[in-house]
Order: sequence, then C-alpha cells, then structure tokens
Amino acid sequence: MRVSILASGSKGNAAFIEMDGQRFLVDAGIGVRRLKKNLESLAAPLDSLDAVLITHEHSDHVQGLAALLRACPLPVYSRPGTLRALSRRAGMPSDCLRPLHDGLEFGGVQVTAFALSHDAADPVGYTIRGSRQCTVATDLGFVTGAVQSALEGADALVLEANHDPALLRQGSYPWPLQQRILGNRGHLANSEAAWALARMRKRPAKVFLAHLSAENNRPELAGDTVRGILHDQGIPLSDMEIALARQDEIVGL
Ligand SMILES: [Zn+2]
Ligand SMILES: [Zn+2]
Repeated sequence: MRVSILASGSKGNAAFIEMDGQRFLVDAGIGVRRLKKNLESLAAPLDSLDAVLITHEHSDHVQGLAALLRACPLPVYSRPGTLRALSRRAGMPSDCLRPLHDGLEFGGVQVTAFALSHDAADPVGYTIRGSRQCTVATDLGFVTGAVQSALEGADALVLEANHDPALLRQGSYPWPLQQRILGNRGHLANSEAAWALARMRKRPAKVFLAHLSAENNRPELAGDTVRGILHDQGIPLSDMEIALARQDEIVGL
C-alpha cells in the first residue's frame, strides 16, 4: 500500500493511493501539470493509473479533471448525481464518466463508496481494501453512524480536520459562510476528527489529518487538538502516527 496526499485544502485536493498494484487517484483538484509532475515523482505516471475516484463535484476536488482527461482519458468513477454535475462542467469528456453506486472491484481490490453529509449532489468517502485498507473521508459536516462504521478497519486513514471553531468564529469569514462550515453539511472540526478516532475499535497505524483550512486552522493546532483529546481518553498515541496533509506539498507514507 502506498498513500500520498498530493494536495489537501480548500485550494485543491488530490491523493494517490496504490493497493496491491492497483493505482487510484482520489479527486483531481489540482492542475494537470502539477499532477503529472507529482505522480512522476512517485514513479506512477498518469497513464499507469487504473481509475480516478471523485468524492464530490466541488471545484477544489475536480477543477483539474477535464484537463487531466484530455491529457489522458482515464475512467472516472463517482455516484450518478456527482457525474451529472461533472458533465455540466465546461470541456468535460463525458465518455470517461462511469457510475459507481456502492462499490466496485479493480483486480482484486475492493473500492467502496460511503455517503458523507456535505452540501454537494451525492458526496462520498472511499474505502480501498486489498491486503491492507485505506479510507478517505474529507468534506463532511459530521460523522454519521454509517461513516463511523466505514472508518473501521483502516490501516491508513485520511480524515478531515478542517477548522478550529473558535478560530472560525473570530476569523474574517462572513457569518453565512461560518454557518455553512459549522453546519451538518459543512466541514469537520479538529475535535470532531479526534472523537471519530477515539470511537474507533481498532485505530489506524497512520492518520492523515486533511483539508485543513488555511484561515480557520493551523497545522500544529489540528495535531495538538487531536492528540490532546486522544490522550485525555487514555488512548495510547505510540501505535498511531499522525501526519498533516498540506496544500502545496506531497505528504505520504
Ligand atoms: Zn473540499
Ligand atoms: Zn466540498
């Protein structure tokens, strides 16, 4: 298993995940030139990808997709509602879009989509399960029971830690946008990410805190909040490595 977060945050999101030889790109929210360069640096050129998995149609997750598909016509999977929204974007090669309902198998690797509570057409997280398991859950307003179950069993988990509510309230965002982020269909706070980890029966060896807000969070604050809550719950931190995904740098394992 290889997991590399190429970009994470409100300016663009993309992750490369390789499982038992199957190569996936989760979201294409960065420009194709950067994507190409990043993937080449991981010895995984564009045309070696097996599939692109899209979580939802917000620009920070798909703004590079049309150009990517024009450069390399890869199969793109997501829920039908998301695909309909994608096909309305200018220049999108619609013949690459393939519906994925609950899951699909790629060469023995099971990809499962699970619903997230977020203000998009049909947003999902993904579990990629082969000899190991990697789960991606970003852009969610809260952790539903179904999401909590979906996180279980991950060896590597990419989990949103978007904001600190106090920083958000003190910050420059207008009130309606603050309410959107804090709402049930918005984004996950650092403490909510921590509680999701605390509730897991078996915690992952590696956690990437992801989709950190540049305005309403700070990397060290996200890490400290999560570690603090786990520590207060008596959960040993020694067997779980916590990494912070970045907007402009590759972070991987
Ligand atoms: Zn996003
Ligand atoms: Zn979103």
